[in-house]
Amino acid sequence: MSGSSSENWGFDTRAIHVGQEPDEATGAITVPIHLATTFVQAAPGQHQGFEYARTSNPTRVALERCVAGLEGAEHGMAFASGMAAEDAVVGMMRPGDHVVLGTDAYGGTFRLIDRVYGERGIEWSAVDLADQDALAAAIRPETRQVWVETPTNPMLAVVDISAVADVAHASGVDVVVDNTFATPYLQNPLELGADAVVHSSTKYLGGHSDVVGGFIAVNREDLAERLTFVQNAVGAVPSPFDCYLLLRGVKTLGVRMDRHCDNAQAVAEFLAGHPAIDRVLFPGLPDHPGFEVAARQMRRPGGMVSFVHAGGEAAAVAAVSATKVFRLAESLGAVESLIEQPSTMTHMSVADSPLAVDPGLVRLSVGIETIDDLLADLEQALSS
Ligand SMILES: *Cc1c(COP(=O)(O)O)cnc(C)c1O
Repeated sequence: MSGSSSENWGFDTRAIHVGQEPDEATGAITVPIHLATTFVQAAPGQHQGFEYARTSNPTRVALERCVAGLEGAEHGMAFASGMAAEDAVVGMMRPGDHVVLGTDAYGGTFRLIDRVYGERGIEWSAVDLADQDALAAAIRPETRQVWVETPTNPMLAVVDISAVADVAHASGVDVVVDNTFATPYLQNPLELGADAVVHSSTKYLGGHSDVVGGFIAVNREDLAERLTFVQNAVGAVPSPFDCYLLLRGVKTLGVRMDRHCDNAQAVAEFLAGHPAIDRVLFPGLPDHPGFEVAARQMRRPGGMVSFVHAGGEAAAVAAVSATKVFRLAESLGAVESLIEQPSTMTHMSVADSPLAVDPGLVRLSVGIETIDDLLADLEQALSS
């Protein structure tokens, strides 16, 4: 049974209450949007924990405590976008350092490492992180970080975080997990051995397609110190209003994720039995290669489903253009269902790289609408 101490609280209680005590001055039950850029000091250096709003802001601190609590982390840092959070982590490397990433890393992560940090002397290798031998072979004396996404985007491959951590840590390499797809409700990478967790809060954490944000959660003091320094020194921080929207979104993360998972499972099973579909990629189907690892390290297999259309590129383009409830758009993780064709949309920037994807591939972010409407929409789009 859960106790009254926040350490023992269940996920949903933590999402609603951690960092969000009623306002001391007014009793307001929701965290106020603190717009002040500076905070009065009684004497130089004598203040109530806040000096200047880039460094720290009460609305942001509430968000940082809340999401850190959900990841089981001692430290959380909010950023202006997922990419800003990733930049802070990649930026800890020096010229000559090397990073290993998965062959279907998020396109923006690959672009950051290849195009921004490549120019600054950082080298990378892309390997299939489900293959620990390939990972061990890719690690060099200069390797500093392994970037893991699981499930991956858009192939929904599952990477065994503990296995990767064992291989990486044996060579003194840090493991960074992008937990955007799973969210802390389904997977807690720090408990599985990761050194840092990053999020695009723009996706499930916000959950309503109305705020861009990023997050880093860590337990290690050395990483917390460096990343907090970078957060302030570089200044890619979210606005107080964005922090408020994220806090509001996170309160319902658990109930939303359960519905995302229910709907995604039903959609995946529907697609698996559909004649227009060549292959369904969803870690909740028993024939998915990552089914067992997912069952071990995730509470449920998540809300993302990809499939390869049997009719190839032209049929995939027709299908994504024909849905009415599923909106044709990039992004994912919000209440509304989205459909997209990665090769010309989200994964355009990796077209000529090892991360290029099949043009017949379609990615679904399954929302929380009524399941019968989602299935009927897919049925009409696949038969048109
Ligand atoms: C969207 C996304 C990002 C980038 O986050 P932004 O908030 O768009 O900057 C990083 N990783 C994954 C897995 C994403 O889906």
